[in-house]
Amino acid sequence: MSPMAFSGNPLDRASYHRADAAWLAAQAARGLFLPFWQNRPFVVSDRAGFLPWRGAWDGATSVFLGLDGDQPLFAVDLAGEHEPQLDGGAFQEMRPAAFVLPARDTAIAGQAKALLDWHKRHGFCPNCAMATQICDGGYRRTCPRCGAEHFPRTDPVVIMLPVFGDECLVGRNQRFPPQLYSAFAGFVEPGESMEEAVRRELREEVNLAAGEVTYHATQPWPFPSSLMLGCYAKALSRDFAIDRNEIEEARWLTKDEVRTRLAGGIEDDMKLPVTIAIAHHLLKDWAGR
Ligand SMILES: [Zn+2]
Repeated sequence: MSPMAFSGNPLDRASYHRADAAWLAAQAARGLFLPFWQNRPFVVSDRAGFLPWRGAWDGATSVFLGLDGDQPLFAVDLAGEHEPQLDGGAFQEMRPAAFVLPARDTAIAGQAKALLDWHKRHGFCPNCAMATQICDGGYRRTCPRCGAEHFPRTDPVVIMLPVFGDECLVGRNQRFPPQLYSAFAGFVEPGESMEEAVRRELREEVNLAAGEVTYHATQPWPFPSSLMLGCYAKALSRDFAIDRNEIEEARWLTKDEVRTRLAGGIEDDMKLPVTIAIAHHLLKDWAGR
């Protein structure tokens, strides 16, 4: 299996220490911080731009990412309408940054983005509406009024490639960029297994009946904070009917065609997913068998 963007995070998250405020303060004092602005990481020379703390950042939300060897790493969320000017680099959108950063930096920046974004949107207690307080280096928020504890969420999303013999089905979602065909995907709903979610999504999106579902790999996907559960679904027939509200077009592709297309050997109106997406790996690993 090929390496997956946003996975392979090398940090020791030190979860057994991070609830200790004194330990955390000692780490912060010698820590390096990855600044974020509007969900964009600071990038310097195609690396994640970790910097020592600056007085100008006092009051900003910061979270503990983990230990890189002996070096504590944090992220800090910088507010403001205008991009903060920091020497030597720039704030870059996460997706394009994932193509230029080394794999480890992409994974660390993805962790930071998902966590900071959760804090930005969970400042108030869903139980009693009081402002909550950050604790444990950012892995918990507590409510001073009702005592409720809130933990950063990761939402499971099934993403599946239906296969029938030597062919797989790819579709064009209405929200996709022009020409892109990919695997099918959707959030797992409450009270649903991964396998059930796969079969339901395929029924809803392309009215395709699926039998056996096989787990392939997972990928953390920080947009905003999902865990993609990559699967293959054995189609029971080639018959499908697209739901026009969601899917514009779907097509069966043979293994040969997938291999040729991924290698850039066909120039037409169909593009397959880029390497940072798990859908790319689902296609590539299946076609390579
Ligand atoms: Zn509360």
